[in-house]
Amino acid sequence: MNEADSERLAAVFEKKGYQLAKKIGDADVIIINTCSVRESAENRVFGLINNLIKNKQQTTNNKGKKQKIILTGCMVGSAKGERRRYTLTQLKRKLPQVDEFKTIEELVGQEEVAPKRKKTTSAFVPIMEGCDHFCSYCVVPYARGREISRPFDELVCEVEELAKRGYKEITLLGQNVNSYRPSFAKLLRHLHQIKGIKKISFITSNPWDLTDEIIEAMSLPNIDRYLHLPAQSGDNRILKKMNRPYTTLQYIKLVKKIRKKIPDIEIGTDIIVGFPGETKKAFGNTVDLCKKVGFVKAYIAKYSPRPGTAAFKFKDNVPPEEKKKRWRVLEELINK
Ligand code: SF4
Repeated sequence: MNEADSERLAAVFEKKGYQLAKKIGDADVIIINTCSVRESAENRVFGLINNLIKNKQQTTNNKGKKQKIILTGCMVGSAKGERRRYTLTQLKRKLPQVDEFKTIEELVGQEEVAPKRKKTTSAFVPIMEGCDHFCSYCVVPYARGREISRPFDELVCEVEELAKRGYKEITLLGQNVNSYRPSFAKLLRHLHQIKGIKKISFITSNPWDLTDEIIEAMSLPNIDRYLHLPAQSGDNRILKKMNRPYTTLQYIKLVKKIRKKIPDIEIGTDIIVGFPGETKKAFGNTVDLCKKVGFVKAYIAKYSPRPGTAAFKFKDNVPPEEKKKRWRVLEELINK
């Protein structure tokens, strides 16, 4: 999603007369599009800005002009959006070196520009943004705001245009594509008919609203045979604490149903280890789930408390060493 946003920003700035700089030292303006899904992502932003300032050569560009630093993306969304985790004053205090704090929407404005896509045959197409679910550990409903679906006809036009320009693969993006309105299944079926588009992928689908109608649409020949289906944990007590509305059994049943309909599907997942209250037994249940499902890949995160989320109030009681150990166990099991 951030990459797709950066492609839109690049197009808007190009329209204003800017060009992409080859090196950071050549730039007049540095736009940092931030991610705040994990604490480490935010720490990297603080580190990057400190390094820019430390190295004096990079606060003024090669022409001796002071560079303007603009911060955008999820860290700004969490301070200026409709649901806030912290105030803009708090963010400004942490990053006094930044000249402007703008949300993506503020930077893009009402501009109707085609994203400046990096690739020439495959394209990201955001279909919806935001999330109304509030999993207890997650910053997305704050950083990205409430769920908004892009108009159906606008998406069809965009994909038809991409097909005309020679694009063959598209990846539909959304925090939970299943909740695309009016209907994700209908959108998949419709886009599938567009001549020239050979492969349609999508990310992410949550397990609780992946309906039979969507599974039916997923079985169409040009839909990618990889499904990303975040499990997050294999322990029912932890899933409940995470505010994930399914049990391990329901997850396994869903996987079976999908495999029955699409036998060659590959499934990947996201898992958080060391969530507050995750005992060794609870972690063992996650290991069991992974063995039962046979994920082809997994993005495994060590839990980090995020201020402003519901889980921030829970005691972060799994020691860092133990989190690392659990991370390694799953990494070896799934990814190696
Ligand atoms: S559904 Fe996904 S984006 Fe929404 S709160 Fe849960 S983890 Fe975050």
